[in-house]
Amino acid sequence: MRFFPQSIRWRIQLWYSLLLAVIIASLLAAFFQNQREIKYQALDRELNSPITRLLPRMERRREPPPRSRRRPEPLNEFDDDFEPGPGPRHGPGVEDKLRDGGERNGPTLDEVVEELAESEIFVIQWDRHGELRFRSENTPEDLRSLPEAAPRGGLRVSKQMAEGFREVIHASPGGGVILVGTSIAPTEEDLASLRMRLVGIGVLIVGGGFLVGWLLIGRSLKPIGVISETAHRISNGDLSGRIEIKEDGSELGQLSSVLNETFEKLETSFEHQVRFTADASHEMRTPIAVILAKSQFALNRERSAGKYQEALQTCLDSAQHMRTLTDALLELAKVDSGEFHLRKEAGNLEDLTREVVRMIEPLADEKKITIRCELASVKMNFDPQKMRQALLNLLSNAVKYNREEGEIAVILEEVDEEVLLEVRDTGAGIEGKVLEHVFERFYRVDRARTQGGRNGTGLGLAITKAIIEAHGGRIRVTSEVGEGSIFSLNLPGLLG
Ligand code: ADP
Repeated sequence: MRFFPQSIRWRIQLWYSLLLAVIIASLLAAFFQNQREIKYQALDRELNSPITRLLPRMERRREPPPRSRRRPEPLNEFDDDFEPGPGPRHGPGVEDKLRDGGERNGPTLDEVVEELAESEIFVIQWDRHGELRFRSENTPEDLRSLPEAAPRGGLRVSKQMAEGFREVIHASPGGGVILVGTSIAPTEEDLASLRMRLVGIGVLIVGGGFLVGWLLIGRSLKPIGVISETAHRISNGDLSGRIEIKEDGSELGQLSSVLNETFEKLETSFEHQVRFTADASHEMRTPIAVILAKSQFALNRERSAGKYQEALQTCLDSAQHMRTLTDALLELAKVDSGEFHLRKEAGNLEDLTREVVRMIEPLADEKKITIRCELASVKMNFDPQKMRQALLNLLSNAVKYNREEGEIAVILEEVDEEVLLEVRDTGAGIEGKVLEHVFERFYRVDRARTQGGRNGTGLGLAITKAIIEAHGGRIRVTSEVGEGSIFSLNLPGLLG
C-alpha cells in the first residue's frame, strides 16, 4: 500500500500546501504570542498604576488617629489594626475620608479601592509580619496569606501569575506588602476569540492557497497530459500525431518540440522502412517470376538442348540479379542499423582508381567507350574494399548509361587538403527535376527499361553515397540532358 500519491500533481500540491500551512501557522502563532504579550503588558500597567495612589493612603492609615476623632470602622472585617470604638457605626470609609484628607488630597482609599473594583481589580495588604491587614471586597476568598514570592522591605515590585489571576506585589517602605490583582479571565477570553479568528484566517489562507496552487499546477502540468495523449496515439499506430505547442519558451514547450522532431523522424523512418520493404519485395518478385516462368517453360514438354540452355541462362541471370539485390540490401541494412563500419588503412587512391578502371575496361570495350584518366597521387586513409565498391558503381553507371563509342573521364586531384574525384560520361544525362532522386534507394530514372533486367537495382548510388559519407565526404551530380553527367566526390585528405 502506498501512503504517498503517485500523481505528480498531488505530490506537488501536498508539499506546497504543507509548506504553506507551516509558514502561515508559524506566522499566526508568532502574531498571537505577540498580541498575548501586549495584552499582559497592558494588564500589568493597569495593575501597577494604582500603587502610587494606594501606597500613601495605606501608609497614612497606619498612623494613630487624632484623639479628638472617633476611631473609624475598619475598612473591612480584616482591618483589625484599629480598635473599633463605641457609638454609632458609620458606613465604611466615612472617617477614612477625613483621615486620608480625602477632601483635601483627592479620593480616599475607599474611593480608590471602589474605583479599582469597578475595573475588577482587587487589593490586599499584609503587614511586615505577614498578617492580613486589608482586603478589598472583590478579593477572591482563597487569597489571604502572603504569597511566598512576595518581596519584603524596601520598595520592590514583583509580578506573578496565580491560578486564574494576574497579580502585582509591592513591598512598601513601611515593611508591609500590597498586592494588586485581577482575574485574567477577560484577557484570556479576548485571546481565545483572537485565537479562533486567527485559526479561521489561517484555514482560509491555506484553503485559498490550496485552490490557487491546484489551478496553477494543473495549468503547468496540462502539456504533460497532451504529450502523453499524443505519445499514446502514436504508440497505437497514428504516426502523424504531433503535440500542439502553446508555450514554446517553457521547459515543457521545449520538450514538446524535441518530441515532435522525434515523432517526425520516427514517421519518416517508418515510411522509409515500409517503402523499402515494399520496393525490395517488388524487386525480388520480378526475377522470381522470370525463374518460375522459364522453369515451367522448360519442363512443360521436351525441348531442344539450345532451348534448355537458354532457359538455364535466363534463370542464372535472374539468380545473379537476386544475389546482387540481396547483397545490396544487406549493405543498406547495415547502414540503417549502424553496423556499417569502415576498415580504414593508409593507401593511395590513385592506385585503387586505376584498379577499378582496369576492372571496368572490358565492359567499356563492349560499347567502344574510351576511358581517359587524369589521376594525381593521393595518399589518404580509406577502406579499400568499400571505396572500390563505390568507384565500381560510379564507373559501371558511366558505362551503362553512356552511348556507344562514348567517353569517360576519371579525374583525381587534391585541392587544399581535400580530395576531388570526378567521373564524367557522355551519356544521355539526367533531367534536372529527377537529379536529386538518383541517390534514393530503388530509384531508377527509366524504370521500365531497367526493370527486372541485369541493368540495375536502383541501389548502387544509395550504397555509394553511404560509403562516401562514412568516409566523411559528400557526393554530388550535375548533368545536362544529351551531353552527359558528372558525378563528383569530395573527400577529406590525409587528415581524415
Ligand atoms: P542502377 O542499379 O539502376 O544503376 P543506381 O543507384 O546506380 O541504380 O542509379 C540510379 C539511377 O540513376 C539509374 O537507374 C539511372 O537512371 C540513373 N543514373 C545513374 N548513373 C547515371 C549516369 N551516369 N548517367 C545517367 N543516368 C544515371
